[in-house]
Amino acid sequence: MEQVKKRIFIQTWGCQMNEYDTELVRSILREAGFGFALGIEDADVIMLNTCAVRENAYRKVYGYIHEIRHQRASAENGSPAKPFRIGILGCMATNLRHELLEDRKLNIDFIAGPDSYKRLPQLIKECYATDVGTEHCSVRTGKPYDVTLSEFETYADVYPSRQEGVNAWIAIMRGCNNFCTFCVVPYTRGRERSRPAANILDEVRRLVGEGFKQVTLLGQNVNSYHDGTNDFADLIEQVSQMEGIRRVRFTSPHPKDFPDKLLEVMRQNPKICKHIHLPLQAGNNRILDMMNRSYTRDEFLALVHKIREFCPGIALSTDVIVGFPTETNAEFTDTLSVMREVEFDSAFMFKYSERKGTTASKKYKDDVSEEDKARRIIELNDLQKDISLKKNRAHIGETFDVLVNHERPAKLPDQWQGRTDGNKLVIFKSDPVVPGDLIPVQITDATPHALKGESAI
Ligand code: SF4
Repeated sequence: MEQVKKRIFIQTWGCQMNEYDTELVRSILREAGFGFALGIEDADVIMLNTCAVRENAYRKVYGYIHEIRHQRASAENGSPAKPFRIGILGCMATNLRHELLEDRKLNIDFIAGPDSYKRLPQLIKECYATDVGTEHCSVRTGKPYDVTLSEFETYADVYPSRQEGVNAWIAIMRGCNNFCTFCVVPYTRGRERSRPAANILDEVRRLVGEGFKQVTLLGQNVNSYHDGTNDFADLIEQVSQMEGIRRVRFTSPHPKDFPDKLLEVMRQNPKICKHIHLPLQAGNNRILDMMNRSYTRDEFLALVHKIREFCPGIALSTDVIVGFPTETNAEFTDTLSVMREVEFDSAFMFKYSERKGTTASKKYKDDVSEEDKARRIIELNDLQKDISLKKNRAHIGETFDVLVNHERPAKLPDQWQGRTDGNKLVIFKSDPVVPGDLIPVQITDATPHALKGESAI
């Protein structure tokens, strides 16, 4: 088949893993000789790296495709738009491949799931070739696609094409074996597999050489990492010992994988940030059981207690779903009471919505009314806002080391921003500083979402 050298534009939605995958895709395509367009206007191939976790992600993708076609048509001032192809990547590609390929209005040209990105150069060539109908083409549409789930693919041999920055994300494992009943990830990203620790350490070394100061270890279930020799505690300890690294973070862990060994490594190592994102999802035992979360409310609370014993003052954040099928008002108040008891520093809250192919969608009717879901999420938001404000205000007068970001607060020329070890956003006044610097900042004010302060140098 003839070489196809096209300019690519990639739009990414969803979690950090998707952002990371886009960096992998850019690297794979660059290696194969493709170029990159700055926007959709001058791209030959537009790829959407999609998410299937939240309902609005679907709507966004559908809306965006219509917008692309409209924008391309208008750019030509009445002449027919220059031809371009659209490819769908990511979780939605796996989850909705037939619907996407067969939707004539969307007119998608090719599809690649999260384990098939090394085949992208070939899929793009196939969608430009006239001899469609190869073994990787949809029988019904003749369009190329590959959504094979791999038990082995970790992309350990691909060095992501990153933008410069202070923090670099590193996927250390992929997939998930937990099968929470509301979640599509085990179906769209397959089973858990981990990269060898030595390979991850090589990547960290290279990142330090490129000027990155912080790494965030990434995985759908990051703390179940195991490469056959090293578990997650071994790995994070080795990463934090690497010369040149100032901070190490990780996300997202599952509450079931917090052995004392890991907490001890965290306690002993000042470079491992004292922040854990600990997804609660619900505070009622019946709902937790229906979600297949594998812990009870008391076990979750006991874990929080243990984490705080090992690392006093550690920041905790969480995820919560309201309105899971059959959740009553009384059961929802159990979630509120856990939130009050734990006092998370911050929380991401979502209304339950059915995802195709999940156990919850097959077994349970989405029977909590939209009204009840909306009321519950407002109540939860209000509670969390009060808690976050109280916790942030308690920091007024304290001084934190802040790792300075590349981003600057808009319209505030003498102000900078960065994050504390506990991952709190700090906006601060200072003489000029350099992204990547660790600056002591005294906190002078607080909102529910950020701390404000002044450089204490
Ligand atoms: S742990 Fe549960 S919520 Fe997280 S990716 Fe796995 S199945 Fe989904």
